[in-house]
Amino acid sequence: MKVYKFGGASVRNADGVRNLRKIIDDERNLFIVVSAMGKTTNALERVFTGIQQDDRDRSMAEIATLRAYHAAIIDELWHAPTQLPRIEALFAELEQVVRETGYRAADAELWYDRIVAYGELISTTIISEYLNHAGVPNRWIDMRQCLVTEQRHKDAGVDIAASTPRLREAVRGCKETVFVGQGFIGGAPDGTTTTLGREGSDYSAAVAAHILDAESMAVWKDVDGVLNADPKIFPDAEQIAELNYLDTIELAYSGAQIIHPKTIKPLQNKNIPLYVRPFGDKRKPGTVIRAMSAPVQVPILILKKDQVLLTVRSRDFSFVLEEKFASIFSLLERYRIKTNLIHNSAVNLSLCVDNSWHIGEAAEALREAGFDVMQAADMELLTIRGYTDELWRRYARGPQVFVRQATQSTVRIVRKRQ
Ligand code: ASP
Ligand code: MG
Repeated sequence: MKVYKFGGASVRNADGVRNLRKIIDDERNLFIVVSAMGKTTNALERVFTGIQQDDRDRSMAEIATLRAYHAAIIDELWHAPTQLPRIEALFAELEQVVRETGYRAADAELWYDRIVAYGELISTTIISEYLNHAGVPNRWIDMRQCLVTEQRHKDAGVDIAASTPRLREAVRGCKETVFVGQGFIGGAPDGTTTTLGREGSDYSAAVAAHILDAESMAVWKDVDGVLNADPKIFPDAEQIAELNYLDTIELAYSGAQIIHPKTIKPLQNKNIPLYVRPFGDKRKPGTVIRAMSAPVQVPILILKKDQVLLTVRSRDFSFVLEEKFASIFSLLERYRIKTNLIHNSAVNLSLCVDNSWHIGEAAEALREAGFDVMQAADMELLTIRGYTDELWRRYARGPQVFVRQATQSTVRIVRKRQ
């Protein structure tokens, strides 16, 4: 079995879906993981916000726009006004959820997952039906039934041991040898729908590859492969032909938007190579990520945006040492704050964290625990692996740099948003 993952940008319109069909060509023994089409997940987040703010008209208006968007893609794919009953049913269900949800703030994340999951349910249904229509018999897989996650919403991890028999069962003994499953979604032990964190479809695909003992996984993207920097931010970005798992994890963790950081572990554990390939041109080789590869020769620049710098200090000026670290981090873990950089001195602990809904609450809890907390918003974290003198001069100095941490090869810089 091979696993192919297609992101939302690739299937944002009918041309994209037709191109997916071309990429599959006559391959068999293929498990395809697909994201929501285009910016659908963002729109569904707005549907959820409408519920949260008790503005259901707004939610309904967003759904109407999504309906029209998907209907246009379907009409174009079938070359005629076409209604797919399964799509109609999914939209009807979504509308019902919006109409009937008795919203309680304590359940926000439960309802978020319930609503946002429709993006992938809809995209995979359209793609599965289209593939059937276009000569690729396939089976639609409901990943809510196959990937068992933790009992936690909005950023759930997959329980691989519990998922293995379910996913294997779902593909066993089928006459079809092509499978289409949703990225990003799973099911909690209590049966509710969960999501794996934004951009989590790569992770879904990696978990599927692991469970199905895939020979390889490919992520088809709107770039030629992995570049050493985001070309929109850093001119002169170059493509990297080969990377090892370890460098890739470091890159993903530092914010390189190649691949979701959770993707590598399930692949590494079974030594499954990961190809990052250009959706627009199947002939190009892309980048391969696997256990062994030559060291990367070019510096790698990664910018992680939307960061907050928290500076934590014990109020009585006692040292912030190990046992205090433990209480600070367990508190941050409770609020699911993701720390990307840690910098400490005798009495200060500086943490560069992802901005999130819960930062204010976490800061409050830290204050209650006896710490002073300062928050600097609008920050970004720049990581340069293999920096040169010139890059150091350009990025590691100046008044906008709040924290700088360097080893021989890597420098990490927390700076004001540029
Ligand atoms: N559709 C989800 C998102 O936009 C998951 C994904 O694209 O990987 O975050
Ligand atoms: Mg997406």
